[in-house]
Amino acid sequence: MRIKRGRKMNSGKRIKGALAGRILRVDLSTERIWTEASEPYAARTLGGRGTNSLIMLKEIEIGTKWDDPANLLCFGVGSLVGTAAPGACRTDISTINVFSGGKGSANVGGSWGAELKYAGFDHIVIRGKAQRPVYLWIQDDHVEIRNAGRLWGKTISETEDLLWQELGDERIEIAAIGPAGENRVRGSAIMIDTAKAAGGSGVGCVMGDKKLKAIVVRGHGKIDVFDQHGFMEAVAAANRQCEDNREKVQSMRQSGAARFENPDFEGWETCMVIRNGQDDYWEREKRDLLMNPETGVASMRRKVRACFSCSTGCMPYMEKAPGKYREMKGEGFWINAIWSVARFDITDPETAVAFWLTANELGLDTDYAAAGLAWIFECFERGLIDRKDTDGIELNWGNGEALIALMRKVVYREGIGDLLADGMVEAAKKIGQGSEYYLTQIKGQPSIEPFRIPKGWALGVCTSPVAGRHLRGATRGPAHSGPCDVDFDITHSMNQAKSVVWQGKTKELEDNLGICNYVGTWSGAHFLKPANFAELVRTAMGLPVTEEELMEHYAVIGRNLEKAFNTLHTNLSREDDLPPERFRREAVQKGPYQGAKADVDEFNAQLDEFYALWGWDKWTGLQTREGLEKLGLQDVVQKLGAKCLDKKPK
Ligand code: SF4
Repeated sequence: MRIKRGRKMNSGKRIKGALAGRILRVDLSTERIWTEASEPYAARTLGGRGTNSLIMLKEIEIGTKWDDPANLLCFGVGSLVGTAAPGACRTDISTINVFSGGKGSANVGGSWGAELKYAGFDHIVIRGKAQRPVYLWIQDDHVEIRNAGRLWGKTISETEDLLWQELGDERIEIAAIGPAGENRVRGSAIMIDTAKAAGGSGVGCVMGDKKLKAIVVRGHGKIDVFDQHGFMEAVAAANRQCEDNREKVQSMRQSGAARFENPDFEGWETCMVIRNGQDDYWEREKRDLLMNPETGVASMRRKVRACFSCSTGCMPYMEKAPGKYREMKGEGFWINAIWSVARFDITDPETAVAFWLTANELGLDTDYAAAGLAWIFECFERGLIDRKDTDGIELNWGNGEALIALMRKVVYREGIGDLLADGMVEAAKKIGQGSEYYLTQIKGQPSIEPFRIPKGWALGVCTSPVAGRHLRGATRGPAHSGPCDVDFDITHSMNQAKSVVWQGKTKELEDNLGICNYVGTWSGAHFLKPANFAELVRTAMGLPVTEEELMEHYAVIGRNLEKAFNTLHTNLSREDDLPPERFRREAVQKGPYQGAKADVDEFNAQLDEFYALWGWDKWTGLQTREGLEKLGLQDVVQKLGAKCLDKKPK
């Protein structure tokens, strides 16, 4: 159907540029399509993830489950996306988290978000469930729910090929699920531009549950900024800042963000989890097998690509010749890829790349696959399950072929894969025999993260509102993340809470504005800093904000919206913000950090500081009336009712 162009931004309001101006609303149950203005939301939240959070908090009734038709699947393109702001390409996808029942969110780059804005939309909010597989086709004002019968069952690249054929336009941008999402595998991703994964919270599982195979976009419009001249100066200043870090930019452009050509990278000794958490030290000889420039992973890298409006570029494009596995090619091989295979003690580069590309092709979140399947490997090693349970597959450490075979079983729900597809926490209850202890999960979501050595990283992961992910404040030292003027040591708790909160705020701004955090505050290079964000917002959006207002108002609003959603929709408590028990009881076995573990007293002290810095009550972790009213969130106070404390934070 052709929808009427909704009311454009009201120039009397505070935001005067950069937005496309509309939210596209789609009800898949009734096939109703309509629009509303996005500006009133963005004026409160800055847009992107913040607006998604506001919509979810306002509209999702308490008691709604992730697979209810009333659950919303919200795509929120950052407010600066579609402009020339460096690294402004990101889209936040929010929905009910299939693991925790609270806020779910995943963030993704590529060009899909910019295309959606050129079509005239900042957001898409989807409710209901289709009767049959469908896809959404958006071409400017033409929005249509189409039959996806012939796409169902196809992998990501097969889906893209069929859509290119059907729509006859190679410039369309596609967000799609693979067989994992169709089969409602809990850890499914939504894949954008073939291999960019929106991977956390099971967002692909929700999309599959709604029988929505893909959202295909083509836009021919443009995005106007408030002050063109001032904006281009702000962009030039930001780009100069990137170029000042030439060494870092060049290393990203040459080898991507994975750092697999730097065997001395400190993260290999502080942030690796080996054999499902039995140790946090991986011998140098093993790492070197993956990182050898001639025979390791790098030998399969053909080029490095960039997302929309990114002058840095960090995505390796890999090609794997036929060998143990079929020939494969595709984008993406991140630092998580090395962490993932280390979890299985896999040192074979071919397997490492095949694992990554296969997961992408099937639409499965690799972090989920690595954390969940390493747990089942350990169950096998300990004799809690055996070959009868695995259809004869030997789940021994280092056995990459077993990993890939098992991953396919999960995606297609074959044999033991069916049990694992419904989530590892549920599977652990069925397997029993103490298997729960070996499952690394935070608030129900399997997690590949390290908890013993890097104190700020563990704090960021454990307190993440989207359950056990590192992109909500995890810090690894001032050289990598955190404010430039706060000194802290990765292995000590001092100043970590401060840095985690700072990083949580800057990530909120980055997700609301759509700026990639590698280009922002999380790469160690600090290509862009909060002062740049403020200048870009002033000139592009016409919002007269200071850096301080961004950090102390807008960034705090977003986090509080997510916090309130979790308070209302889950029973999560302070206990749920602690590291998994195994990492508190068992220490690192070998290497320079031998003996390190998560100390619960030390962690609790960090939590006290963390809650206080966000303005929450340190005993309960709950929000307070005073704190929320200061942010202008009276409606949130009302919604929370008794779950919002009257007293001042202690
Ligand atoms: S730094 Fe990498 S992930 Fe970020 S926008 Fe650039 S290419 Fe994309």
